[in-house]
Amino acid sequence: MSRGLYIHVPFCIRKCPYCDFFSSADCSLKEEYVKAAARNISAINDSFSTVYFGGGTPSLLSPEQFGNILSAADIIDGAEISAEANPGTADKKYLSGIRAAGINRISFGIQSFDETELKALGRIHSAAEAWEAVISAHKAGFENISADLMLGTPFQTKKSLKKSLETIVSLPVTHISAYMLKIENNTPLAKNKDLLRNIPDDDETADMYLETVNFLAENGFEQYEISNFAQNGYECIHNLGYWRCEEYYGIGPSANGFVDGERFRCDDTVREFTLQPIQGRTFIERGGGINEKAMLLLRLTKKGLPLDMIGGIECKADILVSKGLAKKENGFLKLTPEGCLVSNEIILFCGIMDNISKGGA
Ligand code: SF4
Repeated sequence: MSRGLYIHVPFCIRKCPYCDFFSSADCSLKEEYVKAAARNISAINDSFSTVYFGGGTPSLLSPEQFGNILSAADIIDGAEISAEANPGTADKKYLSGIRAAGINRISFGIQSFDETELKALGRIHSAAEAWEAVISAHKAGFENISADLMLGTPFQTKKSLKKSLETIVSLPVTHISAYMLKIENNTPLAKNKDLLRNIPDDDETADMYLETVNFLAENGFEQYEISNFAQNGYECIHNLGYWRCEEYYGIGPSANGFVDGERFRCDDTVREFTLQPIQGRTFIERGGGINEKAMLLLRLTKKGLPLDMIGGIECKADILVSKGLAKKENGFLKLTPEGCLVSNEIILFCGIMDNISKGGA
């Protein structure tokens, strides 16, 4: 049996003001982190069907460090091996290096091609650097290139979003993630009144989302999940595993995992991670129940949720269809883009979850 492997790289050059992911601007323990990651991975008696380096900023690891971690893993032939990268940390030489180390899918956190928006988001890269990073990745031999965009960010307008979308589809990217900005408590953004004043309102952001879905479809990027769009054959296999409720290992500070029916979260201190022979982790809950599976499958807009999976859902499905929020096709219930905007409410309406602890638009 093989499973996915998620590796959390907990380092960033500096914290973006909207971010609540676990990461630190102190990179002094990077080499020890790499050794600990390799040590933990070698202790897993399993092979990996996908590998995903997320963060944090995985592109702060050198090609050699990626190679050291990957050489500890039993990876099946042809596996998708993804790394997230910050465009401000990746030139052509570096990208060629990590491609040679085994990374075959790269995901750039671009967020916007508008300089004012990038500055407000505290990104370390410019629009030109983002453009250059994608071109360099392509030249370095990456065929599978993803880019993240954010919707509803400070100073964003429909016009500036259109410009970002036009730029992104003019580049050799095969996959696009478009996430709505969520203001997380305890982040600097949540306390910055100047920036909060300049965030588009909910209606405007919803319009931006619908325009994004349409624009990307017209340009060859089919929506396959609430926030994810891909050219034919370029869906992210690792992330599809999450939405199909498949099991995966999590390695690194704050990483989540799902193994042998149990969901767990790894301890989130870098120093402890480097010192412990095997990383500590905390049990969260039993996973893989029918409601959880249904909730995750509903996020997959190409196929959707089998109608026979949840008893008594037919009538509710008809109501959703009559309101234009879902479609019924070949025994599956699929959210429309309008339905994606209210996916949490639909999950509650369908009685799939009593409360929303995971997922959402
Ligand atoms: S680069 Fe990514 S992980 Fe790091 S602080 Fe910014 S948003 Fe968070």
